Amino acid sequence: MSEQTLRAALKLDVVVIGAGQAGLSAAHHLRKLGLEPEKDFLVVDQAPQPGGAWQYRWPSLTLSTVNRVHDLPGLAFGEFAGGDDSVRASVAVPHYFAAYETHFDLRVLRPTTVKVVCDRGERLRVETDRALFSVRGIINATGTWERPYIPKYPGAATFKGQTLHTRDFRTAGDFVGRHVLIVGGGISAVQLLDQISQVTRTTWVTRTPPRWRDGPFDEDAGRRAVAMVEERVRAGLPPRPVVSVTGLPVTPAIEAMRKRGTLDRQSMFSEITPTGVRWPDGRALDVDVILWCTGFRSALDHLAPLQIWEESGGITMTGRLATQVAKDPRLHLVGYGPSASTIGANRAGAAAARELTTFLNLAE
Ligand SMILES: Cc1cc2nc3c(=O)[nH]c(=O)nc-3n(C[C@H](O)[C@H](O)[C@H](O)COP(=O)(O)OP(=O)(O)OC[C@H]3O[C@@H](n4cnc5c(N)ncnc54)[C@H](O)[C@@H]3O)c2cc1C
Repeated sequence: MSEQTLRAALKLDVVVIGAGQAGLSAAHHLRKLGLEPEKDFLVVDQAPQPGGAWQYRWPSLTLSTVNRVHDLPGLAFGEFAGGDDSVRASVAVPHYFAAYETHFDLRVLRPTTVKVVCDRGERLRVETDRALFSVRGIINATGTWERPYIPKYPGAATFKGQTLHTRDFRTAGDFVGRHVLIVGGGISAVQLLDQISQVTRTTWVTRTPPRWRDGPFDEDAGRRAVAMVEERVRAGLPPRPVVSVTGLPVTPAIEAMRKRGTLDRQSMFSEITPTGVRWPDGRALDVDVILWCTGFRSALDHLAPLQIWEESGGITMTGRLATQVAKDPRLHLVGYGPSASTIGANRAGAAAARELTTFLNLAE
């Protein structure tokens, strides 16, 4: 698309915001439904390269340490993974997404950041840092990476050590010689605890005792977990991560951590001090680093003018897979709530493309 075209407000039927797993799946299905990229719909993404948030994941997250990256529709991941599980996810997945975009000629416009979306009656106005779009519908697939979540604790501003979030983590070697407090009970917390505890002193803190899951995770349990999150968003409640329902798998790495004593978890502190943390009973601990592995929230700030939120902080979702926003049916959220996984994003992209094109009378 030429820079000249981009300077004028461009009329399209649909814009897909975000080219991660969810956005690419939606774009693929829009094409299959007969919509043409750059004419009927456009995918925009703020990242410099293909790969969604995978391009930013820490180097030690490899294809053997991710849960599983599901194939995007129509092109298998296998050959891009190179048959080698030790390859970095931040390399293999972007490589795959780039090939996917080319293979299906999806023509993602990047880097392009959507700043704000406003209601203009029949149409929606999508303001980006490069161009202005006037569209009839939106598939929003902006993920969570842009919104790391750190809970508020008294005294946080007084802490003299280093405060980090999962998304800042690069390598355990950065922490050698320092006492690291790791906060959070999810998979990322446990994986980083494993790596950091092998090179330096760690303390692990979680709000509730971690729920361990013995044995492989069967599909029924997966479906039940997704259904619980789906129920929440259909009721307009803020989603919870799917893994919070599924529990943590006991892998050989976890067994080894148990033997090393690394998994002796402490309850949550109530206060942060200049040198560490303090518990309600007055017990204190000095640490050099607080690493918050406390997850992410959906990156939806650009949708604020559409006033789609409920008082609970959630968004009431409807449609076959709960991708459609009840308060504004022109808007679908994919990779949100029950579809916040690679397989969920695939399915949500398909459902959103079909329902939105039907709603807008666009399907061939
Ligand atoms: C550490 C980690 C490991 C994970 N491992 C697994 C796993 O093994 N298996 C699994 O199924 N799931 C895993 N997940 C979850 C999974 O990565 C996501 O649910 C999935 O990839 C869905 O991606 P997405 O398209 O919703 O978001 P993303 O991949 O985050 O893509 C969102 C895209 O939107 C763009 N964007 C954001 N805001 C804007 C804006 N305002 N304007 C324009 N573009 C914007 C971003 O640049 C990005 O490219 C993991 C998550 C994390 C954090």
